Amino acid sequence: MPAKLIGIWKHKSIWLCLLLIIVTVSAGMVYRNFFVLPYEQHEKTVYAMDTQITLTAYGTKGEEGLEAAEQEIYRLEKLLSATDEHSDIYAVNHSGGSAVPVADDTAEAVAFALAMADNTGGALEPTLYPVVRAWGFTTGQYRIPSDDELAGLLSLTDYKKVLVQKNAILLPDGMELDLGAVGKGFAGDKVISLLKEQGIRSALINLGGNVQALGTKPDGSNWRVGIKSPDSSDYLGIVNVADCAVVTSGAYERFFIGADGRKYGHIINPADGRPVNNGVLSVTIIAPQGRTADALSTAMFVRGKDEAIAYWQAHRDFEMILLTDEQRIYITEGIADSFERTGRYSGLKITVVH
Ligand code: FAD
Ligand code: MG
Repeated sequence: MPAKLIGIWKHKSIWLCLLLIIVTVSAGMVYRNFFVLPYEQHEKTVYAMDTQITLTAYGTKGEEGLEAAEQEIYRLEKLLSATDEHSDIYAVNHSGGSAVPVADDTAEAVAFALAMADNTGGALEPTLYPVVRAWGFTTGQYRIPSDDELAGLLSLTDYKKVLVQKNAILLPDGMELDLGAVGKGFAGDKVISLLKEQGIRSALINLGGNVQALGTKPDGSNWRVGIKSPDSSDYLGIVNVADCAVVTSGAYERFFIGADGRKYGHIINPADGRPVNNGVLSVTIIAPQGRTADALSTAMFVRGKDEAIAYWQAHRDFEMILLTDEQRIYITEGIADSFERTGRYSGLKITVVH
């Protein structure tokens, strides 16, 4: 090498420049990897299960994870929908009483719904579809069935008559399954598992009001999940939670006003086949799993305030927020400190349930 060049390389300022470039690039990489990418937000909106589903995931693997989550939702809808003629549930409902082979996930979802039906004393009734249909909730052509019609249809409902074998379901002829009260929670659990497998540590999914959180927000703080008000577009309050499901049931979105001027909601009391009318406006369940929260929000809505509180006191493995038509909030002790009333609900009376 010519002596002149060696002189240049030896020159102090050039070495300093090189060092500066290396330090700047390294600092940039550290900043991007530790302070930008983990907070990178990815979002996707999916229309499935007759509702809008929003998926939010953070970090470098977010986009890929949400693609997979979308496909998972469509896959589960194709298995569990009562209306899709190609679904497992449709095949079971039209089997004429013979055993139908089903996918593992279908067997798992139905077995879970039956177990929760048993657990809630039949308040959750996965075979209520003929009754739900008679009121018009499956088509939007609402009507008030007669007492005789309801009595006839109720004789076709009984979760105890459904048999889930390893990979087959046996349903007596004339009976029909409907996973409307647990399917979104079940799908949410499957999506959360999938996102975890994809290496995502922070995500929030909202399946038409069923909110499920994976981990915390990327900065380590809790998610702030709004609970919809039963009679307007604002929020009853906010819960601060991590790694759990927040699911609300009420009669404020799917309902009709009958010719008699009364409001008829889509959650039916399996005891009489009529829309629940017990003074409860909404029930929110906070539980580790979406399927449990979904099943219990429907079942506790059916059972009413006093029985729901007694059920919680006997189990204590979930939290509950219950709003009554007397504008009173009942909240279980484990979530009371994490709940904030908002807007016009700020003044509502709260009773903490112990
Ligand atoms: P939840 O309280 O969780 O459930 C209430 C629903 O469960 C009612 O709408 C009724 O279907 C049923 N139900 C009522 N009373 C009881 C009871 N006591 N026990 C058990 N179940 C009860 N809706 C459509 O209109 N068209 C569709 O094609 C359609 N496809 C769907 C596919 C899937 C896989 C799922 C999970 C849902 C689908 N839905 C569809 C929506 C579904 O019918 C319900 O309206 C919805 O799941 C209600 O959810 P929710 O959280 O509002 O109420
Ligand atoms: Mg439910």
